[in-house]
Amino acid sequence: MYIYIHIPFCDCICSYCDFCKILYNNKYINNYLDNLEKEINCRYKNELIKSIYIGGGTPSSLSYQELERLFNIIKIFKLDSNYEFTIECNVNNLDINKIKLFKDNGVNRVSLGVQSFNKEILTILNRSHTYKEVYNVINNLKNNNINNINIDLIYGVNDNIDIVKKDIDYFLSIDIPHISCYSLIIEDNTLLKINNYQNIDEDIEYEMYKYIENKLTSNGYIHYEISNYAKEGYSSIHNINYWDNGSYYGFGLGSVSYIDNYRISNTKNISKYNKGIYISNREYEDMNTNMSNDMILGLRKIKGVSISKFYNKYKKDIREVFDIDDLINNKILIIDNDNMYIDSKYIYLSNQVLIRFIK
Ligand code: SF4
Repeated sequence: MYIYIHIPFCDCICSYCDFCKILYNNKYINNYLDNLEKEINCRYKNELIKSIYIGGGTPSSLSYQELERLFNIIKIFKLDSNYEFTIECNVNNLDINKIKLFKDNGVNRVSLGVQSFNKEILTILNRSHTYKEVYNVINNLKNNNINNINIDLIYGVNDNIDIVKKDIDYFLSIDIPHISCYSLIIEDNTLLKINNYQNIDEDIEYEMYKYIENKLTSNGYIHYEISNYAKEGYSSIHNINYWDNGSYYGFGLGSVSYIDNYRISNTKNISKYNKGIYISNREYEDMNTNMSNDMILGLRKIKGVSISKFYNKYKKDIREVFDIDDLINNKILIIDNDNMYIDSKYIYLSNQVLIRFIK
């Protein structure tokens, strides 16, 4: 089983953010952690855990004492011997004491929200850190034997590809094994949307995507999912479970669980959550929905889906269930032994392929 825990608090709000987050205010935190503990204690059924992922929000915005409390709460989980334990952090609030606390509590992977090293881009995104600060945090992590580090980058904030090139060069210079690269999406109810910020030209965005892919793969990173690259052995175990449409618990405000074919959504309302009303929706997913999700999530992976696994799970052939012969004949979908995947030329436009798997 896999576990996601949501810590919704952030020190400041990024202009592109549509995640479930709240400005840090310590008057909420104790009550939130009390309820998180209650929710975990009443829903967790003592399964063996392969991965814990503490995301947000910004988990590292919690104080040292609040993080200590959080780690005490999650001691209840029975961990598999080679578990992955990730925590999302921002450079600005990750000091050496918190890093040592992570290490002492079994964290073995840190994901840093960096987004860019360029001042102009960071100002647009309403974030602030310098290359030196990122470099120092990464050194502190490595010195404490946390070497499995991811950074998130955003490209396409403006149409200057030289900024993207420099960001990738900076990333390569800090020598870490994982990077997630997302193009900027201007979501509703974000500061960017309110300020009528415009997307850049799609062709330039595609040029950036190809540049990133070529540069990273020629420097030893494996492109294993549309937006994710890792050195051999460093793919995210936690996220692969999502793309495999596997089961997981989501605890905390706004989180989602997928258990026994039920998609369970927690409330996004902190007042309700802090009163113990955790779940806002529970939906059963039938076999058609499961088959669609297996394909739509699985084809995000560069190696795609296993044809025999799909057959063993549903006793049906993928080509019998979905009308995709034209995609196969036109070599948009490739069949290679047991794998079906989207040809790399089309992966950037994968939504147009994935839509064909909606039933
Ligand atoms: S730190 Fe993350 S969750 Fe918080 S506002 Fe920024 S993008 Fe959103």
